[in-house]
Order: sequence, then structure tokens, then C-alpha cells
Amino acid sequence: MFRRVAIIGGGAAASALLGELLERRLPGPLHLDWYTGGRSPVRGVAYSTRSDRHLLNVRAASMGMFAGRPGDFLDFMRRHDPAVAGTDFLPRRCYGDYLEAQMAQTLQQGKINGHDVHIIPEQVDAIVPERDHLTVLQGEESRQADAAVLAVGALPPQPLAGVSAAALASMRYVVDPWDLLNEVEPEREAPAKVVLIGLGLTAVDVLLELSARWPRTRFVAVSRHGALPEAHQHAASAPADDGTTLLEAMRDAPEIRRWLQLVREAIGGGNDWRTVIDSLRPHTPALWHELPLPQRERFLRHANWAWQCARHRMPPQVHEAISNLESDGRLQRRRGRLQSVDLVGDALQLTVRRAGVQHTLDADMVIQTAGLDTDIERTDHPLLRQLLLNRHITADPQGLGVMAAADGRLQHDHNHWPHLFAIGSLLRGTLWESTAMPEIRQQAHRLANQLLGEAPASR
Ligand SMILES: Cc1cc2nc3c(=O)[nH]c(=O)nc-3n(C[C@H](O)[C@H](O)[C@H](O)COP(=O)(O)OP(=O)(O)OC[C@H]3O[C@@H](n4cnc5c(N)ncnc54)[C@H](O)[C@@H]3O)c2cc1C
Repeated sequence: MFRRVAIIGGGAAASALLGELLERRLPGPLHLDWYTGGRSPVRGVAYSTRSDRHLLNVRAASMGMFAGRPGDFLDFMRRHDPAVAGTDFLPRRCYGDYLEAQMAQTLQQGKINGHDVHIIPEQVDAIVPERDHLTVLQGEESRQADAAVLAVGALPPQPLAGVSAAALASMRYVVDPWDLLNEVEPEREAPAKVVLIGLGLTAVDVLLELSARWPRTRFVAVSRHGALPEAHQHAASAPADDGTTLLEAMRDAPEIRRWLQLVREAIGGGNDWRTVIDSLRPHTPALWHELPLPQRERFLRHANWAWQCARHRMPPQVHEAISNLESDGRLQRRRGRLQSVDLVGDALQLTVRRAGVQHTLDADMVIQTAGLDTDIERTDHPLLRQLLLNRHITADPQGLGVMAAADGRLQHDHNHWPHLFAIGSLLRGTLWESTAMPEIRQQAHRLANQLLGEAPASR
């Protein structure tokens, strides 16, 4: 059992882990150092938005932060408004309020249970793992811990390949869309034409907000397949079965082409395609684990885009708003692969390749909406750079975070540290689905058990 634990990261994953640890009554106290990184503690990027246009993409009934209480968020919301339904897609800012309220309660409960939490609102610069402890360095300070957990979320976005230095310096190319969306008093003049690179849920957030902020701006969204995320149904429909037959058939033949065929057959069997995809969700880590590396590569090259569209869906009202933008002629979708972005005069020019042919596009502003960045080889995140340079961690070969055991212990050379763990997006290479709350709260529960030597949870 680890008594002194450093938790690095101030978002929902760290909060869920703290919740799991602090709510337990144990034979002795825990000493937790919580490094929150300084930016919107608890809410993180996802739940810092103040816009009511930004909705959760998971129904209220499934967003609780504790593995044992998935309906907790719904209960919280119903205390304010009894009319809220479990099937609703609520504003993400409400979820931020819930996390904050829950954390205040959890910290209080931790005190009652005899644990202490030292909150350090700073970024950790370095971690030095030794055989039986770790040293955590932040500025001039260093503190020791028996174990450390990286809960640092997705990495800061890096400019895409092909974007020129002049384009980056022009202030017309936006690498991190949240810098723009979270501007408190937006001062920029409305651009006439904005091009988005990437067409997932981040692009949807950007379109919802900027189309309202700039009512005369036209938007073009470019992505390899030009496909929008699919929409959730208005009412949740129960899966036709628990997916066991499909799952077993997939496990018997871990090969992407066969899996696609099996999924198509399951959908063809009269099931709504969403229920088939959703029935696989609890099993994706196990399926991913069984997929040989070349098959994972094949999936990432050929099927990932379709999986993302089908799995990470828009609430129906968001789908309607985006469809309206398209039918009003304010949003155009283009297929193609970005080759370059240059500054030409005082506008940006993009070169996009499609079916072997190059096309150019002009824009007053380009916004990168390429989704989660988890490639630690390319990151400028100081802590991950330090850990990688010192070979304390190993990059996932497909750019999906870090190499780790299924229980979150990080790999260095060919071994796993006994006391250095990760939770959340950094584990995508190990678990594949590792970014949303339903997965993160399960990880937090298992990790808490692991840190406490699998002590039975008494609350
Ligand atoms: C726009 C958006 C919308 C989403 N919507 C949903 C949704 O509707 N439903 C859902 O289930 N999931 C959603 N997600 C997924 C989301 O990633 C998770 O729900 C959850 O917010 C992840 O939390 P996290 O703590 O892993 O990461 P983050 O919230 O990113 O938190 C990471 C934290 O680590 C801190 N940090 C980084 N480096 C350091 C360091 N060196 N030292 C100290 N601190 C550090 C950061 O400052 C930050 O506080 C969404 C994600 C995004 C980006």
C-alpha cells in the first residue's frame, strides 16, 4: 500500500481518483500531494466552457464521477431542477459545477477520514523515480512520494505538419481552439472566412460558438473523409442483447477486416447500429489488447475515422444546429488531406490533396480542430519531455500516449515501474477508449484499489 501519493493533474481524472481515495476509511491516513497545474482546477479543458451551446456528449444518467455511483451527476442536477431526465444531454458547464461541488465534499470527507491533501496549484516540471520512492520537482521545490499518478489529460496541441512559420506568426492560424473560444472579451474583428482543419467534436464546438459570435462568417471544414460525427438518438434505445455473441466472434478472429464484417452483420441483424457500437464499449480495452500491432495500425489507417464518427456522437440538438449551418450555406465540408498552410499577402492559403489532386483554399483564419493530441514524441509538455528524455517512460509506437500495463503502471525500457502510474488519455495505446468519464471513473476505481493494495473499499 502506498501512503504518500503525488497526483499530477487538476482535471476530472485526478478528481475521480482523489474521490475514490479520500472517501475510504483506512487503518492509517493517506498523504496526498495534488498538483493541479494552475489552469481551471477540477474542470479541465472539457468543463471550463461557459457556453450553454457546449453540451455533454454522454447522457446525464451516465456521467457520475464514481464507478459505484454512475447516476450521481443526475441526482445532483435534479436537486436543482427535478425535471432533468437521465437521457438529457446537459451543458458541460453544469458538469464542471458538479465536479467542483463533489470535490469540495470529497476533500471535506477526506479530512473526516483522517487523510490529508496538500493542494499545489502548479505544474510539475520533473519526476525522478527511484527504486522505492519518487521525487517530484516543481520550480525550486522538491517533494518525495511513495507513488505518483500522471493525470495530465490530452497534450497541448502542436501545429500540424506543413504549417509555415509565417502562417503561425500571422495570428491568423489558431493552434489551440480553446484559447479562442475562452477569450473573455473577444476583440478580434469577425473574419469573413474561417477554415477548420479536422471535423470531430472539437470542430463542432468551435462551429457552434463562432457561428453565433460572428453571424456573417462562412466556415469551411476540411478532413480526410469530410464526415461529421453521427448523432445520438433522441431517446436512448436499449441494446438488443449484451453483445456477447458479437464479442466472442470478434475475440476468435482478431483481425480488422473480419471485425468490420462482424459488426456489419450484427447491424444487419435488425439492431440499431448505435446499440451495436455501444454494446462493445465496455469491452474495447480487452479487444484492443488482443489486436496484434499490425492490425492496430490497420485500424488506425483505415477504420479509425469511421469508429470516431460512430462512437463519439453529437447530441441530437447539436446535430440539428450543425445541419442548419450547412443548409444556410454557412458551413461547407471538404474532403482532403492538408499539405500546407502559408501566409500569402495578408490571408492564409491552404493546400489540400484529394485523390492525388492538389487544391488551394484561401482563409482569413484557420483553426486547428484535429482532436486529442497524445503523441508524446512530438509534445512540448515539459514533464512528459523530461520523463521521455530520461527514459523513465516509453512512447506508444502509434502516438497514443505512453506504454503501460493494463493497470496503468508505466513502462520504462522493458519493465513496469511499481509506483509510477497514469490515468486517462495517456493510456489510449493500452486501453484505446480512455478519455471519457465512463471509462475514467472505472480506471480511478481500479487505480485506487491498486494504490491501497486492493484494500476492500469501506465508505
Ligand atoms: C472539449 C471536450 C469535450 C468533452 N466532452 C466530454 C463529455 O461530454 N463526456 C465525457 O465523458 N467526456 C468528455 N470529454 C473527455 C474528457 O477528456 C474527460 O471527460 C475528462 O475531462 C478528462 O479529464 P482529465 O483529467 O484526464 O484531463 P483534463 O481535464 O485535460 O485535465 C488535465 C489536467 O492536468 C493538468 N496538468 C497538465 N500537466 C500538468 C503538470 N505537469 N503538472 C500539474 N498539472 C498538470 C492540466 O492543467 C489539467 O488541469 C471531453 C473532452 C473535451 C476536450
